[in-house]
Amino acid sequence: MTASLNVSGLVLRRAEWRDYDRMITLLTSEQGKLEAVVRGCRRPKSELINASEPFVCGQFQLYFAHERYSVTQMKLTDGFFPLRENLDRLTVGAGWLRLLEKVSPENEPAGELLSMSLEALSFLSYTDVDEKLLNLMFQLKLLRLTGFSPATEVCAVCGKKLDENDLYFDAQKGGCVCRSCSVSARKLSYGAGRILKKAPKAPFKNVEMLIPHPDWPEAAEKTAQFVRYAVGDGE
Ligand SMILES: [Zn+2]
Repeated sequence: MTASLNVSGLVLRRAEWRDYDRMITLLTSEQGKLEAVVRGCRRPKSELINASEPFVCGQFQLYFAHERYSVTQMKLTDGFFPLRENLDRLTVGAGWLRLLEKVSPENEPAGELLSMSLEALSFLSYTDVDEKLLNLMFQLKLLRLTGFSPATEVCAVCGKKLDENDLYFDAQKGGCVCRSCSVSARKLSYGAGRILKKAPKAPFKNVEMLIPHPDWPEAAEKTAQFVRYAVGDGE
């Protein structure tokens, strides 16, 4: 089977591949996660050199032959270049690409996941909103879009409806738990509980409304713990 395919995508990862080529992992709107060879991109003056850099997004022309995609053309939309000038923000962004690589679906559309990720990367590159707050919003939305969300309505252990004023959080057990199931859990503030429940459904840009919220650092800490258990992201 051979076919051409035009996709909008974000480069999640690159690896050296043969002498002058690279293999990239792309998150695409049309096909979810896929791998493609960028032939000749390590030759001097290759027009495809940009196409193989992590954080680059654009329109990719792919060609499928011999069971493998190759990139034949790429039109750059954004490279989020200011990220490379701030180590803290670059580290957060690299963590997002790694998470996306772990949880993105294959062979099915992932338009909402891609557009959310690009919006998050824009905030990370072009605004000064605290990267820890952006990380919270990104993780909550990613969990929701990939079906890994922590429990917030009913207890993750016994399934009982939760009391918003008496919440506990157990990352290992799957999210919010009730008082009776809180043996190894820590108390969760009302405000942090509201963030875990509401923020994943809000548009990414609403992250700015959380800036003055006193409980977002608590929500960020709990969400990061949860991600480590749910997705196995150890770093
Ligand atoms: Zn319970």
